[in-house]
Amino acid sequence: TDKTPLTVIGLGPMGQAMVTRFLEAGHPTTVWNRTTARADAVVARGAVRAATAADAVAANRLLVLSLTDYAAMYDILDGTDLAGRVVVNLSSDTPDQTLKAAAWLAERGAELLVGGVMANAEMVGHPAAYVFYSGPREVFDRHAAALAVLGRPDYLGEDHTLAQLLYQAQLDVFLTSLAAMLHGIALVKSAGFTAERYAPYLTDTLNTLSMYVAETVRHVDADEHPGDLANATMMGATAAHVVGASEAAGVDAALPRAVRSLYDRAIAAGHGKDSWTALINVLRS
Ligand code: NDP
Repeated sequence: TDKTPLTVIGLGPMGQAMVTRFLEAGHPTTVWNRTTARADAVVARGAVRAATAADAVAANRLLVLSLTDYAAMYDILDGTDLAGRVVVNLSSDTPDQTLKAAAWLAERGAELLVGGVMANAEMVGHPAAYVFYSGPREVFDRHAAALAVLGRPDYLGEDHTLAQLLYQAQLDVFLTSLAAMLHGIALVKSAGFTAERYAPYLTDTLNTLSMYVAETVRHVDADEHPGDLANATMMGATAAHVVGASEAAGVDAALPRAVRSLYDRAIAAGHGKDSWTALINVLRS
């Protein structure tokens, strides 16, 4: 199996989990972190501590970055000798930042593979974990075996932006759903229910959501939104009721107001009798 030596820069919970998995898989791993103490745990497990960022870059051709954002990459790598290096940046940022980074690295003789990790620190390396990648196909192919240690590599294409776009789309659904979950809890708590008491209903609704995926993607891809079961007018009225219930309960209503606004605009655009999936036309315009 692949035992490519590599360097991991950035040792937050994610970076530390990644180093642990690489070590377990037998990859000689060099590490560097701005806050030195954050390397202690992985060094105790067998990682090699680089004294400086320049040393960490010099140690291996394959560099894995796990940082807060892409700006941190420039802070760390500026002034190091990047010639011949492959930078696998697994940090979150906006898709346009990946293009800037690819150009910046190319000027210094390095290549960029963009990654978006679909797992939390505890799930890194778990069979259910996967990682979006985009960038040069040949660079991905060369390192896919080593990167598979972190989770199933899911290669999207040569365009560097793709992995961040898919990652942010997933985080879009995730963060919005988490906020909606807390919002529902806030509503029931206003009547003295504990979150615990509400939990079975919450679980039921979240499980039901995945059953809407097939119909949603069929409507959207066909650009046909038959509204025989749940049309935008009915759903929009309910969206307004959620706003009203929130206001009456003294719960912040910004989130349901944003949802209601989508329905209002879809109905104003003539989609009242269409399925609620016609909201896609408002979102994309
Ligand atoms: P942390 O915020 O804990 O770690 C961020 C790392 O970036 C630290 O090593 C930090 O160094 C470093 N860093 C930030 N700014 C700079 C800078 N200007 N110069 C040098 N180093 C800097 O993040 P996580 O480990 O939780 O996450 C890392 C990445 O993975 C993020 O992009 C995150 O969005 C993504 N991610 C996180 C998940 C999670 O569950 N935590 C899940 C999926 C993706 P220092 O220690 O010195 O502060």
